[in-house]
Amino acid sequence: MRLVVLGSGTSVPHPQRAASAHWLDAASGSVLLDASAACVHRMAQENLNWVELDAIWISHFHLDHVGGLAPFLFGTKHAPQTRERRKPLTIYGGHGLKKLLSAFDEAGDYNLLKQPFPVEVREVAPGTEFELLPGLRAQTLSTPHTSESLAVRLTEEDGASIVYTSDTGYTDALGAFAEGTQLFMMECSFWRNKPVETHLELSDAMRLARRAAPRKVLLTHLYPEWDGIDIPAEARKDWPGQTIAATDGLRMTIER
Ligand SMILES: [Zn+2]
Ligand SMILES: [Zn+2]
Repeated sequence: MRLVVLGSGTSVPHPQRAASAHWLDAASGSVLLDASAACVHRMAQENLNWVELDAIWISHFHLDHVGGLAPFLFGTKHAPQTRERRKPLTIYGGHGLKKLLSAFDEAGDYNLLKQPFPVEVREVAPGTEFELLPGLRAQTLSTPHTSESLAVRLTEEDGASIVYTSDTGYTDALGAFAEGTQLFMMECSFWRNKPVETHLELSDAMRLARRAAPRKVLLTHLYPEWDGIDIPAEARKDWPGQTIAATDGLRMTIER
């Protein structure tokens, strides 16, 4: 698999970090992991084939993760590049995703699901397993952030996997969920003294890393308070493995 970070930031406007969006190329297709407002143009900036995007994963409905979904569908509905597309697009997310899309639709009479190609919206439950793309197995875990928030573990047929926590508070369950993964992509909103329980700070993330023992950790969803801090060096104080701080445009390969 290949990962491209489109947005390593949060809801707070930042000159170098767009809000949450990550592009994943799997063996059988492409998935957008969260769809912030910036993702629409960030995909084009990174020369990614948004015209043929196969699936979108929405972790939860905070606007720094879903604010680009309606604009993207508005784009594909009217762009000349997608006029000839017939391949389906599947949008996955927790309970309420259909209602959210209808609310966007009603706000402007957009008919966002009427596209030149078929669009399917699939609400998935926590603790389930399904095929997100042919040969790409997905497992979900409810996380302590909002009622619909889900972490996802994606596994290729050869066993290579990535776990994406998205926004979450600390829970032991996440460490077990991510056990042995090649890439543990965690939110790490804060360095220390986090102001809320529904996000992770560095010590939480490293505690999860110690439990999961992944090959690599990628920290994303970084608030501006991280500016100027050597994140990998701080992480090493708590966990000796390889921690990478996400930056917009970062590319990584995930192999078994
Ligand atoms: Zn967020
Ligand atoms: Zn959130």
